[in-house]
Amino acid sequence: MSIEVIGVVGAGQMGRGIAQVAAEAGLTAHLLDVDMATAENGVEQVARTLSRRVEKGELSADARTAILSRVRPTGDYASFADAQMVIEAATERFELKAELFRRMDEAAPEGAILASNTSSISITKLAACTTRPELVVGMHFMNPVPVMKLVELIRALQTSEATFAATRALAERLGKTVITSLDRPGFIVNRMLIPFINEACFVLEEGIGTPEEIDAGAKLGLNHPLGPLALADLIGLDTCLAIAEVLHSQLGDDKYRPAPILRNYVAAGWLGRKTRRGFHDYSERR
Ligand code: NAD
Repeated sequence: MSIEVIGVVGAGQMGRGIAQVAAEAGLTAHLLDVDMATAENGVEQVARTLSRRVEKGELSADARTAILSRVRPTGDYASFADAQMVIEAATERFELKAELFRRMDEAAPEGAILASNTSSISITKLAACTTRPELVVGMHFMNPVPVMKLVELIRALQTSEATFAATRALAERLGKTVITSLDRPGFIVNRMLIPFINEACFVLEEGIGTPEEIDAGAKLGLNHPLGPLALADLIGLDTCLAIAEVLHSQLGDDKYRPAPILRNYVAAGWLGRKTRRGFHDYSERR
């Protein structure tokens, strides 16, 4: 199956990144959020990202215009009528995603693939919310989507080989390298990453080091490009906490219990870069 038109549900940092890389590869992307204004805001962020690339001489102004013309904001699921695939990239909460999958299933044409960009939630459970479980798959992009090369693909118990092959072909067309994970909480990447970030939160909470020291420890001592607290701020502390809760509840091992400081930051609304305050301060940045 050739995929030329996609729908994306959720115009946050991941959804708009997915719409952007799809449009750069020549696909049309309908970008949906709770309402038209939020979806339009997502397209404006894509426009800003592309403008920066034009300023740096990496992209022509004509190419920017052409890419942007293929990202279509919408608040209405009826826009997905011509899509061969719909990718869900909304907030990391099972009940919300279950509801979104029911709506995607109603709106998408027969035979269209329904994918989730979830970081941790069972694809098998999401597939079971639809009338087309064999067409449901996990397609986990990394952040920032235009920069990061990896896509982790997850087969639900019900996913057909044809669905998996078409999703792999799309990921490769978007210039990504694919790894395949079993459908287990956090898959491969977040099963490793979130306990690391959570431990960094405990290190901070116990006063063992400052945020700067913890991040320098990982950057200069482990050769990581970004320290765990700076990475948590990039991901969003709400998303990190939601993933940690899935690991803890679904794997049933207290070693995954979220650090109280992470819960407190989320309760305070200090979610990282997206609110300009997290473990680090971003109030001065554009
Ligand atoms: P975000 O907070 O930036 O964006 C979430 C978006 O979902 C918002 O625009 C919100 O308005 C929208 N949304 C909420 N309810 C909705 C609804 N009912 N209908 C339509 N849209 C709705 O979050 P994000 O970082 O983009 O994460 C989105 C998904 O991608 C999550 O499942 C997350 O686990 C996953 N993910 C995140 C990262 C990361 O680094 N942040 C990386 C890989 C995967």
